[in-house]
Amino acid sequence: MNKFDQANPTVATVKLLIDGAFVESTTNDWRPVVNPATQAVLARVPFATHAEVDAAVAAAAEAFKTWRKTPIGTRARIFLKYQQLIREHMGELAALLTAEQGKTLPDAEGDVFRGLEVVEHAAAIGNLQLGELANNVANGVDTYTLLQPLGVCAGITPFNFPAMIPLWMFPMAIATGNTFVLKPSEQDPMVTMRLVELALEAGIPKGVLNVVHGGEDVVNALCDHPTIKAISFVGSTRVGTHVYQRATLAGKRAQCMMGAKNHAVVLPDANKEQTLNALAGAAFGAAGQRCMAASTAVLVGEASRWIPDLVAKARTLKVNAGTEAGTDVGPLISCAARDRVEALIAAGVEQGATLELDGRKPSVPGFDDGNFVGPTIFSGVQPGMRIYDEEIFGPVLVILAADSLDDAIALVNANPNGNGTAVFTQSGAAARRFQEDIDVGQVGINVPIPVPVPLFSFTGSRASKLGDLGPYGKQVIQFYTQTKTVTQRWFDDETLSAGVNTTIHL
Ligand code: NAD
Repeated sequence: MNKFDQANPTVATVKLLIDGAFVESTTNDWRPVVNPATQAVLARVPFATHAEVDAAVAAAAEAFKTWRKTPIGTRARIFLKYQQLIREHMGELAALLTAEQGKTLPDAEGDVFRGLEVVEHAAAIGNLQLGELANNVANGVDTYTLLQPLGVCAGITPFNFPAMIPLWMFPMAIATGNTFVLKPSEQDPMVTMRLVELALEAGIPKGVLNVVHGGEDVVNALCDHPTIKAISFVGSTRVGTHVYQRATLAGKRAQCMMGAKNHAVVLPDANKEQTLNALAGAAFGAAGQRCMAASTAVLVGEASRWIPDLVAKARTLKVNAGTEAGTDVGPLISCAARDRVEALIAAGVEQGATLELDGRKPSVPGFDDGNFVGPTIFSGVQPGMRIYDEEIFGPVLVILAADSLDDAIALVNANPNGNGTAVFTQSGAAARRFQEDIDVGQVGINVPIPVPVPLFSFTGSRASKLGDLGPYGKQVIQFYTQTKTVTQRWFDDETLSAGVNTTIHL
């Protein structure tokens, strides 16, 4: 357990970004940023004051006056430069991410890469923020639309993708002409800040991107702030529901991507080896700390016989610090997260599920203080058990049995969450029925983690999402812009006045 001294001057501080300057917070409330494999304190992060939040929003409001009119090519070229800088710094960014978040270095590169794809998309803004025009909607009258930026927007991000999720938000918001205030996760803000530095280096002008750190108070201040027009949130269902309600009550647009319980349905005709590899990777990768982790397997009919092979595969995964070569499963983000996952495993045993593989307290030589839990598998799981009803957010796979595809679909649809799901089969007809009848926003067919690339949008549904438009991709252009319709008529000298017309016709 680390010892943290609020005022320890030897530990580096994470800065706020206000009006183009990286500044030290004046707060008295600091939290440690901790390496989850070693408990080393890497930095101190401030919980910003209200005055600092106000200053960040004021800077963004001032910058909006000019940024909203900046030519589209100028905006696009910043993101062209930005994607190049991210590529050049990939190794450094991944190392920083692994140090504070724990995931393996290759997975950290994946985290940065999936955000980089959104930056590439933002560089194509010239083709994305186009209006529509209808010629001659009445005699000599045309109607067209302008997609205009909203103003100051804000983003609140979770700990599990500290590169990708901030990059889901501010590049598209800024590319569409808005200015932005970002509130990163207080648990791993350092890689986010490095990405922000690179964004300024790429040419984002002062005040266009601002960063404040903190927790509940800062988030509430953003939700309430009268100048902020829209809030994008990614995190847990509890906090996201609060953010949605509070922000919309204050008249803002809000989109909240939240918790999950993603089911992978396995039919007995599936390719066994590919399916078991996919399941193990998607359940235990990133130590299960992905909102799209395949944390629940539904084995249909004879596929239930594959449990011993799945357990054997899970046993081969190497639990170690994310910095070590060959690691499959790194530590959980915090001691509290590890304790919670261990408690849920105990609850699973207590409530009668069969513990096929127990990953608690693995031996990790050289990293005795790390927050490790190894791959854990339960079979005989039922709705009503805590390990089914709650999002575990750890390397724990729960297995349920179903008699038929219909039973499996009914089970998935009865779960309140709708983030992601997958079906494994070699039958096109079964896959098509699954795709048609499943009530989940993102569907994989023999693809365990079906997160769409930025040509599309992230489309979780039901309890996993509040707000209708998703982050990044096509939908986020709508989210970050206000459609204005213009109906125009020009009179030339020959136009004869028809006199006053009091009907509704143009
Ligand atoms: P979290 O909800 O605890 O934190 C998210 C953000 O909210 C952080 O910036 C945090 O500082 C802030 N916050 C925390 N408590 C708050 C409070 N009481 N009031 C206001 N703000 C508060 O989430 P997390 O633990 O960082 O991330 C894990 C969760 O995020 C999981 O549930 C996961 O499924 C979800 N997630 C969802 C998606 C998605 O796209 N659906 C993606 C990634 C993560």
